[in-house]
Amino acid sequence: MNKNLEQVLTTIKENDHFLVTSHINPDGDAIGAMAAMGYILQSLQKDFVLFNESGLPQRLAWLKLPAPITQELPETDPQWLIVLDSGDSSRPGEKIKDLIGRVKTINIDHHLGNPGFGLINWVEPQSSSVGEMVARLAQKLDIPLQGALAEAIFLSIASDTGGFSFGNTTPEVLELTAHLIRQGLDYAQINAQMQKQWSLNKVKLHGHVLKNAELHLNGQIGLITITQEILKKTETTIEDCEGLVNYIRNIKSVKVAISLREDEPDKIKFSLRSYGNVNVQQMASSLGGGGHRNASGGTLEMSLTQAKEKILDIVRRYLRGKD
Ligand code: 5GP
Ligand code: MN
Repeated sequence: MNKNLEQVLTTIKENDHFLVTSHINPDGDAIGAMAAMGYILQSLQKDFVLFNESGLPQRLAWLKLPAPITQELPETDPQWLIVLDSGDSSRPGEKIKDLIGRVKTINIDHHLGNPGFGLINWVEPQSSSVGEMVARLAQKLDIPLQGALAEAIFLSIASDTGGFSFGNTTPEVLELTAHLIRQGLDYAQINAQMQKQWSLNKVKLHGHVLKNAELHLNGQIGLITITQEILKKTETTIEDCEGLVNYIRNIKSVKVAISLREDEPDKIKFSLRSYGNVNVQQMASSLGGGGHRNASGGTLEMSLTQAKEKILDIVRRYLRGKD
């Protein structure tokens, strides 16, 4: 067995009082992996708290949880901290970053370039999702992948593989998913749960943003911007921006899709998407962010105009270098 997985297994079996967390503005993998880890700790009769600095996104409110997801740290420190789906120690937010400094930490992740900020680090960039890794953990503990645990794992996998369409959809992922279905997971019902979460305002936001999509470098770069103004006008939040960048990745000529989201006047969240060998993780990490080869992100402390020029410059240089 993988040495790091073994360390995680022994540590959770032999200890108690865990705090389980994941990155801010959590996606389906972050929340699914937290829920799944909670169900494992519950089966082992351990004491645990689920924490996320941004809380549970509204679109995932349907998910069954083994405990509520709190946005407040407990008064007493846990004995162990479990950080999921976080490429570095600042991804879970400031409160957890401090805690990592003083509490023994298990880091379970699948991002490229994870520096190994835990005392125990189980990092597998070849895994589709952290939910897939947590499923392996449950299997080693002979915990059946059924019911709410299976749903949480499916949420993770389906989110991070783009509904089984990205390059990380390995035979192992499909076999694990087949196993979940054989164990009773209702595939159509859970997909409907995940997808049917839109509001009319979200559709209108996407309409406004896509209307102003741009192409650069002979159509090889697609770019969209989401301003504070448009979020206010459509009465939407940053949660409603999920998935926007994928539309422009689908433009035939586009090799790199860029989304720029104005969270504050001088705080721009960027997302980069690509296919195949075009490595956006390299581009994102040169801007202080990170992620995966075909899906990365980060934050720039500058105006929208400045961020756009900076990112376009980096992507243009990368793509020109590849010709
Ligand atoms: P998204 O663009 O959907 O926010 O994120 C795409 C991928 O990049 C995810 O795997 C996410 O965890 C990672 N990512 C997004 N923002 C950051 C960041 O600021 N730092 C790092 N290291 N990774 C990020
Ligand atoms: Mn993930």
